[in-house]
Amino acid sequence: MPGLAIRKGDRVAMIAGKDRGAEGRVLAVLPKKRKVIVEGVNRVTRHEKVRPNRRGGQEGGIQHKEAAIDVSNVALVCPTDGPTRVGHRVEDGASVRVCRKCGTEL
Ligand SMILES: [Zn+2]
Repeated sequence: MPGLAIRKGDRVAMIAGKDRGAEGRVLAVLPKKRKVIVEGVNRVTRHEKVRPNRRGGQEGGIQHKEAAIDVSNVALVCPTDGPTRVGHRVEDGASVRVCRKCGTEL
């Protein structure tokens, strides 16, 4: 099974779904689920139980967290073309990712 074209740290754009057009950095890749977590995209609100901590403050309450996105809903961002399809090219025996439009290594 081929690995995902998207890696941690990549800049990606949403090409489908409610956050379509949003861009962010990949925080985590979940290859088995074929999903990625993108900074600031697909945020969900979680209500956690409020509990006192030792310093006399409170923890919990409302937390905002990014939920995983299917990789088919995101595209790698080329500096020239914006969201793009990814191709592969072999250089010095190693496969590198390139923009399908302009051929720039991504
Ligand atoms: Zn390009």
